[in-house]
Amino acid sequence: MLKKVLIANRGEIAVRIIRACAEAGVRSVAIYTEPDRYGLHVKRADEAYSLGEDPLRGYLDPAGIVSLAVQTGCDAIHPGYGFLSENPDFARLCEEKGITFIGPSSSVIHNMGDKTQARDSMRAAGVPITPGSDGNLENVEEALTLAEQVGYPVMIKATSGGGGRGIRRCDTAEELKQQYPRVISEATKAFGSAEVFLEKCIVNPRHIEVQILGDSHGNVVHLYERDCSIQRRNQKLIEIAPSPQLTPEQRHYIGDLAVKAAEAVGYVNAGTVEFLLTGNEVYFMEMNTRVQVEHTITEAITGIDIVREQLRIAAGLPLSIRQEDIQYRGYALQFRINAEDPKNDFLPSFGRISHYYAPGGPGVRVDTAIYTGYEIPPYYDSMCLKLVVWALTWEEVIARGKRALDDMRLHGIKTTAQYYQQILNHPDFEAASFNTSFVPEHPELMNYSIKRHPSEVALAIAAAISAHAGF
Ligand code: ADP
Ligand code: ADP
Ligand code: MG
Repeated sequence: MLKKVLIANRGEIAVRIIRACAEAGVRSVAIYTEPDRYGLHVKRADEAYSLGEDPLRGYLDPAGIVSLAVQTGCDAIHPGYGFLSENPDFARLCEEKGITFIGPSSSVIHNMGDKTQARDSMRAAGVPITPGSDGNLENVEEALTLAEQVGYPVMIKATSGGGGRGIRRCDTAEELKQQYPRVISEATKAFGSAEVFLEKCIVNPRHIEVQILGDSHGNVVHLYERDCSIQRRNQKLIEIAPSPQLTPEQRHYIGDLAVKAAEAVGYVNAGTVEFLLTGNEVYFMEMNTRVQVEHTITEAITGIDIVREQLRIAAGLPLSIRQEDIQYRGYALQFRINAEDPKNDFLPSFGRISHYYAPGGPGVRVDTAIYTGYEIPPYYDSMCLKLVVWALTWEEVIARGKRALDDMRLHGIKTTAQYYQQILNHPDFEAASFNTSFVPEHPELMNYSIKRHPSEVALAIAAAISAHAGF
């Protein structure tokens, strides 16, 4: 097994990895930049090192991180998600310096991080892809010609995109002319690459993704799928495992397809193959070569600790499970509780957590790095907590989700928690019938009234009176 792992990340995912290390008997090393000095990952790791004042630079500095890993005697680096997790140069530098990168090889990261190259590999492997470009677009004229061939609506997408950014839908040639330069400028700013490509827009699809694990001995398994169709602006809000919208035949077909995709590229470690589904059609969309935000719900239904498996795989051990041993049970939901105000166009709401009470009880898991008194720094992700619930049936998991959201107290900032209650109460959600248009088609769900506990109301009134009286 590995002995000591540096975690090149922050927030809840750093804490999640530290926990896996602790259970596996592996020492953990945290890194932080000064705004994160009071971060939970700094407190929980066995060792922690500051990488300077700048909020981001330290987390994005491959050379600095790898040399710290060498100096502190680490044998591996876990990149988490975001930051350097899908940066092939970082993985290559680790390889060069004799540090194990906990993920696939730099060449696989490179090939799959480039969405047009990933499409090429999948086409060659016989995995269906959305109709669209063969490679990157040269100019808007090429985009217009291609759009006529595949038919509108189309999507212009950043080749190195991620996190739901750098994607625009175009319904007409006029829109395509307008959006084309916008995606290029967005891609250049966000991903440092001006490359874009075109895909047919699949109207009202379901986003279904498959968790896979591959070891360095050539074994690849899948851990079934997640349904991430509840999205806003191509970003996931609530994730579900398994999808309540698949037949058992579809489930096995898509699971096998993901294994085929992973085998075709010689995939090692944990990864996700994302697909779009419409009716009985399945299209490969992209592959994420890292642990995903929503790996938690797969853990809930299978009982497999995905981060622990990542550590084992990186240590060169074979997978601890065979495909036929992987069972799933019940349903799990994950709510991404973001520090955002749904009533104000989801504007970020950073600030001090004046009071936090974690939900608990049967079937509830919370992954977070916040605590009462913690000040959420404005420089990073707005996701501040992942609430995961599990139950045996669809009906029960919805009831449990409502109860757990209601249990939680998170004061001092605005969050998406109450908005998720509205989604859980919607008849289409209850009937397990939704696609990626659910959120945009239901703007009325943002018009809820904030439910307050009577004692909170009393406190607010007392505060208002004392402020008015000048006490
Ligand atoms: P997941 O695919 O695990 O559901 P998200 O797409 O929400 O996760 O991304 C997780 C985090 O990683 C977000 O902070 C997102 O901004 C970041 N991220 C994802 N892909 C990229 C990328 N290609 N470049 C930069 N950041 C990315
Ligand atoms: P990212 O790397 O940012 O996660 P993806 O390629 O995975 O980007 O797409 C993110 C989301 O955008 C998908 O979950 C889906 O809702 C939407 N999307 C992407 N491509 C298409 C498409 N061709 N047709 C319809 N929706 C799409
Ligand atoms: Mg994606």
